Amino acid sequence: MAAQEVSTLNDPGDIIVVGGGPVGACCALELARAGAAVTLLERELEICPPASGAYANCGLLVPSDATPLAAPGVLGQGLRWMLDASSPFYIAPRPSPALARWLLAFRAACSAERAAAAAPVLRGLHVLSARLHDEYADGRGDEWRFHHTGELQLYETPAGLAAAGEEVEQSRAMGVRVDDVTEAEARRLFPGLRCDVAGAYYFPEDGHLDPMLFTRAVARMAGEAGAAVVTGAEVLALEPAPDGVSAVTTRGSFAAGQVVLAAGAWSPFLARDLGLRLPIEPAKGYSVDVDRPPDFPELPLYLGDAHVVLTPLGDSLRLGSTMELSGWDMRVRPKRVAYLRAGGERAIGVPADGPVRQLWRGPRPVTPDGLPVIGRVPGRDRVILATGHCMLGLSLGPATGRLVAQVASGARPEIDLAPLAVQRFA
Ligand SMILES: Cc1cc2nc3c(=O)[nH]c(=O)nc-3n(C[C@H](O)[C@H](O)[C@H](O)COP(=O)(O)OP(=O)(O)OC[C@H]3O[C@@H](n4cnc5c(N)ncnc54)[C@H](O)[C@@H]3O)c2cc1C
Repeated sequence: MAAQEVSTLNDPGDIIVVGGGPVGACCALELARAGAAVTLLERELEICPPASGAYANCGLLVPSDATPLAAPGVLGQGLRWMLDASSPFYIAPRPSPALARWLLAFRAACSAERAAAAAPVLRGLHVLSARLHDEYADGRGDEWRFHHTGELQLYETPAGLAAAGEEVEQSRAMGVRVDDVTEAEARRLFPGLRCDVAGAYYFPEDGHLDPMLFTRAVARMAGEAGAAVVTGAEVLALEPAPDGVSAVTTRGSFAAGQVVLAAGAWSPFLARDLGLRLPIEPAKGYSVDVDRPPDFPELPLYLGDAHVVLTPLGDSLRLGSTMELSGWDMRVRPKRVAYLRAGGERAIGVPADGPVRQLWRGPRPVTPDGLPVIGRVPGRDRVILATGHCMLGLSLGPATGRLVAQVASGARPEIDLAPLAVQRFA
């Protein structure tokens, strides 16, 4: 569909997807492959732009990670970190009723029962998504530097290793494959390792890729399957239209039978038009790309005590993560960047004051219970939500797209969407 054109499509098989991040791109691909007439609308001039929450994320595919963001112990740890300026977590003090509501809901979700109920839901999404990631990459994975080589989680302290051990046992009980790794094995895998090693775990199911290259390639694949990909089209409002929905954008209006809201951390703004309060906060994270040391293997390294990820991406090494609840204040806080770089220096000797190839920060769309929101909006059955993927939008994009395509066609989704319904926040 050409820009400026006002669409008159009103068939339920015509679908607008709002948002060109990994979730929106995967929805467009899965819908187009299922035979829908898809228009993908992205506000910025390119798919997966630097302003998105995925452009330079850590690039991990983590089917092993079925522990939701809200889990027992996280509250206490978070409070301790908040008092330490050089920690991986920060909440900027500010008067925000939305943040206050979010924190209360987060506290409620941190119970052992709720975390135990959420874990198998996440695991089910991960298993489906990992299979689809492999399928997408079949014959084209080099386009987005896809490697299914696993991930090493390393603990510098015995306390960190012991705490992780409990999570590992829960993961094993859910069928996640985890290998114990000794210090000697870790040092053999990473010859440049310099930090203390109390122990490590290897997660063979995990993988990594370049998130920007992946998302843009998936949008191209959606185009090859017949989707129209329109960039520079900011959706200003979603309005009811005869037999469907109209998206009013900066490049004209587009009407369709259904709309998928996949605008990441920006989703609450458009949800408001629908009379819906989505409890999603932007949680800022950072990454720093540096030269990849020649002896760094094709294997991501997660420093478990510090929550710092080191991901090899071609001849770059990405140091990433930290989480800041600062609302839409996207300023770079030098202490967060220094924290990541200190992790890189401590672990493998990448100088913390050496040259930087790229510094990035972006907003994760975080829900209070750590689960995404996937499914129709009650009372607005032309609108499908695909948002709130927290730290897992890259991993879970393909599964989300597949489930959205099933919902849109009226088929029974292959995963029960009840735990992911927006009504859980009512
Ligand atoms: C530092 C960091 C590291 C991370 N590491 C990982 C990782 O290793 N693995 C993993 O799985 N996840 C990771 N994540 C999380 C992941 O990046 C997010 O979950 C993911 O970006 C969510 O995808 P999305 O498509 O929903 O949103 P986004 O990626 O934010 O995309 C939303 C898109 O919608 C567009 N948009 C917004 N409003 C409008 C509008 N009105 N009209 C049109 N377009 C609009 C935006 O421009 C944007 O392009 C990380 C995140 C951060 C910050």
